[in-house]
Amino acid sequence: MTNNGRTNEANGSLRRFMEGLKRRNPHEPEFIQAVCEVARSIYPLVEQDAEYRKARILERMTEPDRVIAFRVTWEDDEGNVRVNRAWRVQFNRSIGAYKGGLRFQKSVNQSVLKFLGFEQTFKNSLTGLPMGGAKGGANFNPKGKSPREVMRFCQSFMSELFRHIGADADIPAGDIGVGSREVGFLFGQYMRLTNQFDGALTGKGVSYGGSAIREEATGYGAVYFLQNMLEQRDESMEGKRIAISGAGNVALFAAERAIRDGAKVVTLSDSKGFIHCDSGLDEDGLDAIKTLKLQRRGRLSELDGELAGVRYENGKAPWGVSCDVAMPCATQNELDDEAARTLVDNGVQVVVEGANMPTTDDAVARFRQHGVQIAPGKAANAGGVAVSGFERSQNATRLSWSREEVDRRLKDIMKTIHDKCVSEMERDDQADYADAANRAGFRKVADAMLAYGVM
Ligand code: NDP
Repeated sequence: MTNNGRTNEANGSLRRFMEGLKRRNPHEPEFIQAVCEVARSIYPLVEQDAEYRKARILERMTEPDRVIAFRVTWEDDEGNVRVNRAWRVQFNRSIGAYKGGLRFQKSVNQSVLKFLGFEQTFKNSLTGLPMGGAKGGANFNPKGKSPREVMRFCQSFMSELFRHIGADADIPAGDIGVGSREVGFLFGQYMRLTNQFDGALTGKGVSYGGSAIREEATGYGAVYFLQNMLEQRDESMEGKRIAISGAGNVALFAAERAIRDGAKVVTLSDSKGFIHCDSGLDEDGLDAIKTLKLQRRGRLSELDGELAGVRYENGKAPWGVSCDVAMPCATQNELDDEAARTLVDNGVQVVVEGANMPTTDDAVARFRQHGVQIAPGKAANAGGVAVSGFERSQNATRLSWSREEVDRRLKDIMKTIHDKCVSEMERDDQADYADAANRAGFRKVADAMLAYGVM
């Protein structure tokens, strides 16, 4: 068959795969978006390898091993009975026990958790650590709830989840709406129910088994990834204007690392608006924002007029501000085509995804068309799960490593992930960082699945 004939056949079978995927997963747009993005990148590998095709690796990899759905009933401070929906999606454990965060947000549903669990499988594979992919959460909105309400919710949530997790089975961690406070409540209930103190959750407080640098890891790791990309371009962080979205765990520690490494962080945002500091935030300003967002759980609007040189813009995303680097660190599909066009017009060079799938397909296409490099979340935000992997190792050996040691290992892992992407791009000069991350993550999982036979 000619090359053209083979390409047409491959395109046809990729199209049939995607049509089947859409048919099997109606009402799951986020999951379909995530799978289609990966499938387009890895299809050449599947096409080239008769074993992958015969074993139907792609079809198997896009069905979760298991989806556990359950009800969470709890009582609010007025004594009203409240009911939420919760899930744990155990996606793929071919290369290690399930590992992935828990998200508490009112928009959580099965589609969102399947997309996150699917992506987690590839991300965990890229870290080189033995971790399978999973994700979980509930459509519980922690905003406006008292600490005791959050505690009662977490305890009720864990009263079902504890049956399905364990240090060698499935190890959840935090994500949107689940920070160290929630992990504390969840781990306390897990211990009460199982009578075990083990590494079944990560993101724990340092005084009870948590790792140094876990809180900082995703944001720091994303900036380390950016540094590797810039070095590859013979550039440095010094003076780079970075627009960051979000003001949560990922965004704030990305900002901290970037400021310490000489960059200018010109924006941060939350779900109501963004702050703009044209000369770049300093560490004192960032500390005030951290206290507001991570401790008081307030709104950025409260800082309007409070910090010198900082302006608050209500109801807008930060992508209109001119920058060299954009770091979407809030949520999925937050950076759309219109925002991408504005960023391109304003001269953006690099996009680093701190959040999972924050850039829409159209926006990705526009960046590609204009030569803007994109570091995909699977690679760039893998630092969080990598340090969660280190937390497991420390728990298993009853040791705790210093901040310096964890930070050094985190830097090494981010460099290794970056280098894996570069070597995939060297194999195929049409591939970009996103294709490369998908392919490098895929190979390891696919080969493990082949080793197990048909199951
Ligand atoms: P947090 O809950 O700590 O912070 C999320 C931030 O994003 C908040 O500032 C929130 O605003 C904002 N936000 C949430 N939804 C929206 C929205 N629809 N529009 C605009 N802003 C929004 O979460 P994390 O920082 O932990 O997670 C952020 C992203 O990073 C997620 O995609 C997560 O999956 C991903 N990630 C997180 C990791 C981690 O270690 N935490 C690891 C890898 C990926 P507000 O304050 O108003 O709620």
